[in-house]
Amino acid sequence: MLLSITSTSPDATDLGYLLHKHPDRVRSVDIGFGTAHVFYPQADADSCTVILLVEVDPIRLSRRRKDVSDHGLEPYVNDRPYAASSMLSVAIGRLYGSAMSGSCETRPELVEAPIDLEVSLPVVAAHGGEELVAKLFTPLGYEVTCEALALDEQFPAWGASAYLSVMLKARLPVQRMLEHLYVLLPVLDNRKHYWVAEDEIDKLFRRGGEWLPVHPEAEFITRRYLRFRELTRPALAQLSVEQDSDDIDGKGDDLEALVERPLSLNEQRLATVTAAVVEAGGGRVVDLGCGEGSLISRLMAEPSVTEVLGVDVSISVLDRAEKRLKLDELSERRREKVRLVQGALTYIDGRTAGFDVATVIEVIEHLDLERLDVFARVLFSHSAPTTVIVTTPNVEYNVHFERLGDNEMRHRDHRFEWSRAEFQQWAHTACEHYGYSAEFRDVGEADAATGPPTQMAIFRRAGAVTND
Ligand code: SAH
Repeated sequence: MLLSITSTSPDATDLGYLLHKHPDRVRSVDIGFGTAHVFYPQADADSCTVILLVEVDPIRLSRRRKDVSDHGLEPYVNDRPYAASSMLSVAIGRLYGSAMSGSCETRPELVEAPIDLEVSLPVVAAHGGEELVAKLFTPLGYEVTCEALALDEQFPAWGASAYLSVMLKARLPVQRMLEHLYVLLPVLDNRKHYWVAEDEIDKLFRRGGEWLPVHPEAEFITRRYLRFRELTRPALAQLSVEQDSDDIDGKGDDLEALVERPLSLNEQRLATVTAAVVEAGGGRVVDLGCGEGSLISRLMAEPSVTEVLGVDVSISVLDRAEKRLKLDELSERRREKVRLVQGALTYIDGRTAGFDVATVIEVIEHLDLERLDVFARVLFSHSAPTTVIVTTPNVEYNVHFERLGDNEMRHRDHRFEWSRAEFQQWAHTACEHYGYSAEFRDVGEADAATGPPTQMAIFRRAGAVTND
């Protein structure tokens, strides 16, 4: 199996310093189930490619397995020598371990520097196909290209095999990219790991601690990586990953609900937003970051709303929305009024264009601050609905929540919580850029000093005629 990493940043051979491997030499190391080699087919200032080649010895591998007795030839003849898997992670750990830990004595300034990287994995057994590869890598900033590999190139009629060739492109620190591969390769492969031990939890934290808790598929990744429930449970708790409430007693959303419960703020918010949608004339509504669909179910009941599209980045949340809304039990006519699709708000998406109203309810605070400009551009410039309704917590109000410590946010996944001035400043800038006007309203009962618990902005596209 093989992993190729190419840097196309200026001074591309810096990759050699970062990986602690000299471009002129071949390095070979025994890794128990075979031998791993590192070498550079190309190393010049414009482009530098390093290959990690793992030669698996099927006989040595089979001797390490405990379950070989009644599998005939399978222990010796299988895809393990070719398909990227946990064994490639082991090799990454052995040969690029120092790089993954962020050590670079000769050029420490390189460690955190993002560089233009292209990763090629010629054979990947992705259990979940292209869709899964995209779901795992796109939220981490990768451009993903997958190509299905033919079962046999000499017999095209036999069609595609179960294997993909995967290309990933991103501008990232090398250390971070190695961590992503280290954790996600076994997740894609989903075979019984070459290892499974208690210290896997530690490895997962060490390699995924920075990025996994905020990955939309964190729970799925943790489950597949660790495979066994007894390991998964404490790991999810330690990672503070939101967990499926019907599966494990999660804390994420429950905490927010608990914090805000005395005011039943969520109910007030849904009612206020629904009223604002109706006031804007209803029509075709897209609910961006729809979550489990609590707003959608209210909008469906409004006669002036003719169509609702719910968009969310998380498949598990959309599954729950589908169940909650009981979409499969609706009459065909009502069923046609609602659609749920997976999508990310920071990518241009033709499916969200042409709507009368977009609602973005308690979502922006889940986006990284540095991605908000992109989000605004996608929303106001590409989707460009007539009316946009955005709500977000008002941080000034947090002093009234007894359960919340100083400077603590209402939800673990919130990247920020804004004061009224901060929210209005952001909204005004967006209006200037994209030709909208904004009106601000309170959601929930406002306090004289701190204002309301939730703040809402209603944006209207300049010159647009609403259909009321
Ligand atoms: N609007 C819903 C859910 C709010 S929670 C409500 O008011 O109940 C925030 C939601 O935004 C989550 O469901 C999360 O999966 C989704 N989300 C976070 N980042 C996203 C992104 N970049 N693209 C699309 N959805 C996102």
